[in-house]
Amino acid sequence: MKKVLLINTGGTIAMSEDQETGKVSPSQHNPLLTQSSFFNTLADLEVVDLFNLPSPHMTSQEMLKLSQYIQDHAAGFDGIVITHGTDTLEETAYFLDLTLKIDQPVVLTGAMRSSNEIGSDGLANLRSAILVARAEASAQRGVLVVMNEEIHTATYVTKTHTTNVATFQTPTFGPVGLVAKSQVIYFHQLMRRDYYPVTEMTQRVALLKTYAGMEGDLIEAVGQNGYQGLVIEGLGAGNLPPATLPALDQLIVQGLPVVMVSRAFNGVIEDIYDYTGGGKQLRQMGVIFAQGLSGVKARIKLMVVLNTTEPVAIDQAFRL
Ligand code: ASP
Repeated sequence: MKKVLLINTGGTIAMSEDQETGKVSPSQHNPLLTQSSFFNTLADLEVVDLFNLPSPHMTSQEMLKLSQYIQDHAAGFDGIVITHGTDTLEETAYFLDLTLKIDQPVVLTGAMRSSNEIGSDGLANLRSAILVARAEASAQRGVLVVMNEEIHTATYVTKTHTTNVATFQTPTFGPVGLVAKSQVIYFHQLMRRDYYPVTEMTQRVALLKTYAGMEGDLIEAVGQNGYQGLVIEGLGAGNLPPATLPALDQLIVQGLPVVMVSRAFNGVIEDIYDYTGGGKQLRQMGVIFAQGLSGVKARIKLMVVLNTTEPVAIDQAFRL
């Protein structure tokens, strides 16, 4: 029987609802621990409760601990499953994708409804995640996110809905596979995979979203508050409001990498427009264009690239 390492980190999948008040909170005893016997016929499971955190409490320090735990304990297992709160699941998944160097599939899953709610999706998602983690076809695909019977790459998946169980989607590209009743089926392959070894996470990166009429004060604050990099969610195909430019230029002159993604949900950014704040000018100023990544993913990548023990050119790291 295939051996799967199941690492629990918390989130709604490990929570219960108070039937009187409707409050959902972490349980003293993780309900998943009593339920893992459901999967005895699927895999020989070794279960570890690494954290019991709501995912808004995750920081790059927990992500690093999780990555190091997997790297140190993966030997002897056919696959790894991680349960995680859905709010920041995509960030942890991408952090693992960039920092792990193991051959086995690594799969994250979670739940939108806690363990005792009607229509709770935790057990079904965990079952799918185990099926994916033990499948040989899942190897060499990067870290995967399995929710609602779909398989997504950590690189491009995002949470799109506050409560719906079909919340995890991959804009622009779609899922890479699906979990049918008993089979795992792939129909896309990720084109590029990166690996950046990290041993500590000390470099901080800010993320700002642009808006019509934005000025430079928030960008100045990034320079004044000890950040080592900025990711900015620009407008449309890759443009910024003119009043942000002096502050942005100042950051770049100071040597801070400024990476731009689009605040638009689909598509990639390009330097098309030739007006003040247009992509042509931004490129000339030294803004790095991150194609296809969301703001939160570009922030994780810039942090990892700034912290890696094997430095790389930052603009190369963000090429598609
Ligand atoms: N707020 C919860 C968390 O991320 C949501 C969930 O797990 O679905 O921990």
